[in-house]
Amino acid sequence: MARKFFVGGNFKMNGTVSSIKEIVNNLNNASLDPEVEVVVSPPSIYLHLVRDNLTKNIEVAAQNVFYKGNGAYTGEISVEQLKDSNINWAILGHSERRTILQESDETVSLKTKYATENGVGVIWCCGESLEEREAGKTIEVVSKQLESLKSHISDWSKIVIAYEPIWAIGTGKVATTEQAQEVHKAIRDWLKNVSDKVAEETRILYGGSVNEKNCGELGKQPDIDGFLVGGASLKPAFVDIINCKK
Ligand code: PGA
Repeated sequence: MARKFFVGGNFKMNGTVSSIKEIVNNLNNASLDPEVEVVVSPPSIYLHLVRDNLTKNIEVAAQNVFYKGNGAYTGEISVEQLKDSNINWAILGHSERRTILQESDETVSLKTKYATENGVGVIWCCGESLEEREAGKTIEVVSKQLESLKSHISDWSKIVIAYEPIWAIGTGKVATTEQAQEVHKAIRDWLKNVSDKVAEETRILYGGSVNEKNCGELGKQPDIDGFLVGGASLKPAFVDIINCKK
C-alpha cells in the first residue's frame, strides 16, 4: 500500500482570531495537491474557528489531549470533546511538551493510547537533542521513545510518526536530507519489531525548520512521507510545502 503524503501545520501558541482566519482563507483559496493529506493544528482556543471556517478537505488537530475521559482535570481537553467538535487528530509528544512541560515517555504513550483507542488520530513526535546527536545517541533515544509507545499501543493504524530533531526546531538548522533519511530509515526498520505491515504502512514525517525551499529535496527521500511544519505553517508558503510533490 502506498503511503499517502501527509503535511501537518503546527501553529504552536501563535495567532489571533484575525491572523488565523487569514491562514484559513489562504488555504481555502489555494489549489492544493489532492494526493496530500493536510492537517492543521491551531491552539485549542481556535480549534472551532478553524474547523468552522475551513472549506477544504483539511483535518484539524489539537496540540494536546488528556489520557482519561471527561472529569475533574482542570485545564485539560478530552478526546470526547475533540470528537464532539469534529477534531479528529492530536499532536502528542512534541519536544516542547516533553521538555518545557515535562511530559514523560509514559505520559505521552498513555495519551496516545487513549486517543487512538477512542478514534482520534495522533501525530506522535520523537527526536533527539543536539547533545544526544553529538554523542551518537540519536537512534538510541528515538528507539527508547518508540519502545515506550510499543508497550502501550496495539493498533498503529491511527498513528503518524513525526521525527523532529530538537536542534532543528525553530532554529533554521534543518537536518540534511541524508541525516533525516538515515533516521527515518532507522525508525522504519525499528517498526519491523511491531510488524512488517506497520513498518510498511506507517507514515514518518520530518519536522524541524521545513520551508518552501528545503521541502522538495526532503520530500523525495524514500522514507520521508511528509512534514510537520511549525513556523512556515503560519505563512502563505505553507501552500508551497503542501504542494512540494506537484
Ligand atoms: P519549525 O517547528 O518548523 O518551526 O522548526 C516544527 C515543529 O516544532 O513541529
